[in-house]
Amino acid sequence: MPDLWFEPLPEERPLLAALAAYLKERVAPTAAERDAGGSFPRELVAEMGELGVFGLQTPEEYGGLGLSSRTAAQIIELIGRADGSLGLTVASHNSLATGHLLLAASREQKEKYLPRMASGEWLGAWGLTEPGAGSDAAALKTRAEKTEDGWVLNGSKQFITQGSVAGVYVINARSDPAPEGRPHLGISSFVFPAGTAGLSVGRKEDKLGLRSSDTAQLLLENLRLGDDALVGERGRGFYTVLKVLDGGRIGIAALSVGIGQAALEFAARYAGERRQFGRPIGRFQGVGFKLAEMSTELEAARLLYLKAAELKDAGRDYTLAAAQAKLLASEAATRAADEAIQILGGYGYVRDYPVERYWRDVRLMRIGEGTSEIIKLVIAKRVLEAYAD
Ligand SMILES: Cc1cc2nc3c(=O)[nH]c(=O)nc-3n(C[C@H](O)[C@H](O)[C@H](O)COP(=O)(O)OP(=O)(O)OC[C@H]3O[C@@H](n4cnc5c(N)ncnc54)[C@H](O)[C@@H]3O)c2cc1C
Repeated sequence: MPDLWFEPLPEERPLLAALAAYLKERVAPTAAERDAGGSFPRELVAEMGELGVFGLQTPEEYGGLGLSSRTAAQIIELIGRADGSLGLTVASHNSLATGHLLLAASREQKEKYLPRMASGEWLGAWGLTEPGAGSDAAALKTRAEKTEDGWVLNGSKQFITQGSVAGVYVINARSDPAPEGRPHLGISSFVFPAGTAGLSVGRKEDKLGLRSSDTAQLLLENLRLGDDALVGERGRGFYTVLKVLDGGRIGIAALSVGIGQAALEFAARYAGERRQFGRPIGRFQGVGFKLAEMSTELEAARLLYLKAAELKDAGRDYTLAAAQAKLLASEAATRAADEAIQILGGYGYVRDYPVERYWRDVRLMRIGEGTSEIIKLVIAKRVLEAYAD
């Protein structure tokens, strides 16, 4: 059994053992190569599909593993520890496109898309962000016009994970005018397969980190869809979007902890071996205290994402816990990666060692699925409500 920080259910042990062995043998040793090459690892994705990681919470009737949010998040942490890019691919596929369909799709849509998504044959891309609508996502301009027999979509989407490699797209667009002061109303969601006429891939992003995950701009020009492409209720898609983001934030928190954990482990081993002034540098309090803070903050972040996942599994409100987990985990993991570079000194700054990659990879976590500033707005709103007279 891998070195886990939790006690898996007996039925989950074989899956976790197989996944941990696979990550150790196939994924972690080649992560630096993929980072340098920057290309999407189709072969690994296909192999990981066989392990079931693209249907973590998809019910078994649709070909998924049907795991709890708690176990799914821990798996994302494990994958992120081995390779942040692959962690983002798995996390975004499961929580965004798949998560949206699980929450709002019809039975026919689920039957059509989920089995091939769960196997990894079709990766999912989820389009919310646009060039002019990032944090203010409800200001999106992509239009969905109703026709006699369906819909026509026009617009563009920015920074879409799996944008150029997906088999399925879930796109959020404005289908109806928003009533004054209520911009979140009038937004609808649509699902369609890759290859649908009118969809093209714009620029592929050249990123600081997570370089072997795919991020691309999508262009939608007179993209015609049938009525059966509408996911959920017309005009009320943004409510689902917010729920999708709540779930996604647990995944981003887990992924952050995974990358931070990798930085901690590497730095701790290094500090035990590297000698200066006649002793291992880890024996100097200035270095040891860094490791103490890194491990404590990461452990706190782990507990917070587990709390959010458990609330979700119990069917309780987890918006606040997911936001707090995402905030703490992304900030703590970024600090951990930064301190890992410090602990390695000059060796931390060069590509021979992985800590500079962890630092580049983890930096997205404070931006994606709500920047730290936006997450603080979510938390502040809840705190103010909780203590209002
Ligand atoms: C690698 C990558 C993958 C991504 N994947 C996806 C994806 O799959 N699907 C998708 O839809 N999107 C995706 N995104 C988009 C991501 O969610 C947005 O980048 C993010 O929400 C921020 O939006 P923005 O980049 O437009 O920044 P902006 O919204 O322009 O923000 C710029 C700065 O202003 C601050 N700011 C904005 N408003 C406020 C406010 N009210 N109060 C305080 N500060 C504020 C922000 O915190 C930030 O610091 C991805 C982005 C990246 C980089």
